[in-house]
Amino acid sequence: MDNFEIVDFNSLSEVVQNLIKEAVEIRKRAYVPYSNFAVGSAILTEEDSKVYTGCNIENSALTPCICAERAAVPKAVCDGYLKFKIVAVVAHQKDSFTAPCGVCRQTLSEFRGSDGDIDIYLSRPTMDKVLCTKLSQILPLSFVSYKEDSVIS
Ligand SMILES: [Zn+2]
Repeated sequence: MDNFEIVDFNSLSEVVQNLIKEAVEIRKRAYVPYSNFAVGSAILTEEDSKVYTGCNIENSALTPCICAERAAVPKAVCDGYLKFKIVAVVAHQKDSFTAPCGVCRQTLSEFRGSDGDIDIYLSRPTMDKVLCTKLSQILPLSFVSYKEDSVIS
């Protein structure tokens, strides 16, 4: 597959490195008493380059569980930021990277940057290797809202 590449953390720009570090930090606040699988996420907004972070939050009823990415998105949106440039996701899996789930991919697609895409970086807490991809690569043929071309009049 050519839809991602894995690089050394140190080869990334300072902006991306800092975003990953923010995701590592917020991951420590993950509320995961059931799975013990902690995830942190950090979003860089296109306008003003603001950083918004989120951790996953579990619930004994299971369905109200929220992913780290979807914990960060409302914080940005509530502050008026609707275009995201970069999203970092950090979790620990020994032999793989943790990618956003399908629901989070669709959620993020609502807030694509002006170029129509979002850069995605997946890291482990050790911040050694980082998987680099784009939302368009991990969510091809995303659902596009009715608002763009098919509003019923
Ligand atoms: Zn998710």
